[in-house]
Amino acid sequence: MSGISKFDVIVMGAGAAGMMCAAQAASTGKTVLILDHAKAAGEKIRISGGGRCNFTNLHCGPQNFISQNPHFAKSALKRYTQWDFIELISTNSISWHEKTLGQLFCDDTAKDIIAMLLRMMKKASVELRLQTSVTSMRLSDGLFDLALNDGSTLQASSVVVATGGKSIPKMGATGIGYQIAEQYGHSIIETRPGLVPLTFGEDTKQDFSALPGLSVPARVTANGTGFSEGLLFTHRGLSGPSILQASSYWNEKDPIHVHILPERTLFEDLRALRKEHGKKSISNVLAMVLPTRLADYFSDQMRLTGNLADQSDVDLRAIATYLSAWELFPTGTEGYRTAEVTLGGVNTDQLSSKTMESRLVSGLYFIGEVVDVTGWLGGFNFQWAWSSGWAAGSAIAAQTKN
Ligand SMILES: Cc1cc2nc3c(=O)[nH]c(=O)nc-3n(C[C@H](O)[C@H](O)[C@H](O)COP(=O)(O)OP(=O)(O)OC[C@H]3O[C@@H](n4cnc5c(N)ncnc54)[C@H](O)[C@@H]3O)c2cc1C
Repeated sequence: MSGISKFDVIVMGAGAAGMMCAAQAASTGKTVLILDHAKAAGEKIRISGGGRCNFTNLHCGPQNFISQNPHFAKSALKRYTQWDFIELISTNSISWHEKTLGQLFCDDTAKDIIAMLLRMMKKASVELRLQTSVTSMRLSDGLFDLALNDGSTLQASSVVVATGGKSIPKMGATGIGYQIAEQYGHSIIETRPGLVPLTFGEDTKQDFSALPGLSVPARVTANGTGFSEGLLFTHRGLSGPSILQASSYWNEKDPIHVHILPERTLFEDLRALRKEHGKKSISNVLAMVLPTRLADYFSDQMRLTGNLADQSDVDLRAIATYLSAWELFPTGTEGYRTAEVTLGGVNTDQLSSKTMESRLVSGLYFIGEVVDVTGWLGGFNFQWAWSSGWAAGSAIAAQTKN
């Protein structure tokens, strides 16, 4: 049929997962097209990790992911590991460093990773089309017809959906991957923003207005899962790594529990301070272990008065307990506008964990963030993009040409 360009594989979305998949799928000579409606490929990689891309984590394993089926990610993560990606970037002369907690960043710029992926695709003769979007998709006789925004039609025997989640719509995130999944009978695990700051409405009695910009070490727990990292007070609520991590486990109306200074034995510390600083006011003593404005805030909250010497062991124990089990009820999140990831997505029950292929429609694949696999903060989401992209790409590359 004239006017139709044919490919073995079309990858929708030139993000982390799509580019890894396209390069791998083309490695045995298959014709591969990757398209994206953005002006440039890998835009999220470019802005990630403050421009240095936290591209993986030394300690990555299935335990660092949230999914309705916690076993699903195991196979892909095991077959293309953090060590494989480290080797890939090292052989591409991209230098890197560990920042904290196993989180690996580029020494120079995230653009080095985008350039590497573009080189890999070029070497494998992948065709990249930017500012191109799919307006509709149809399956007939085992072939996918994709209508594009410029009026043309593409045809392929395999389609890989790598269009990411809903986070940061300003950067081109759309829900198209979920629509395609539903069109072919897949169910979607309800999506919601993850790795996102928590907000506190006026009715919550939490007035953080004197605290924006303050940060403090904390362990934040939501629904039984806790993270010990920094906590940051913002104008609208709470952020910082410990809050972002816990936000992925938080559901509306749930409390979160905050342990301020989890590494300190506050009761023992206050008792020791009482010996030398008994004449100081209790809020001044708290300011010796906490930022002053935060010490004032907690003194107000607990209605603390008097000097340290006036506080009995029972009083000191009550202060330590308050700071170790501070219960808060967020009213919401900052939403997809600032969320780093989208929780939920294409139900893994209907996907092969080995190849990412749909169990319902042969030749249709879903990879990366569009799938119901969401990583913790710390390089895990990119590792899922590399691993799932590699799994689908390798499976496609291994198929005999028809
Ligand atoms: C600010 C920020 C910082 C982050 N930092 C990190 C980090 O340091 N480490 C980490 O592990 N994770 C980080 N993440 C998460 C990480 O970026 C994502 O999990 C990852 O990019 C997902 O890869 P993906 O390929 O599935 O989707 P994406 O990278 O989102 O790629 C999807 C692509 O599909 C395209 N697309 C969407 N809709 C259409 C359409 N209708 N037609 C055509 N193309 C379409 C998009 O333009 C995009 O290029 C960060 C996220 C954000 C928002």
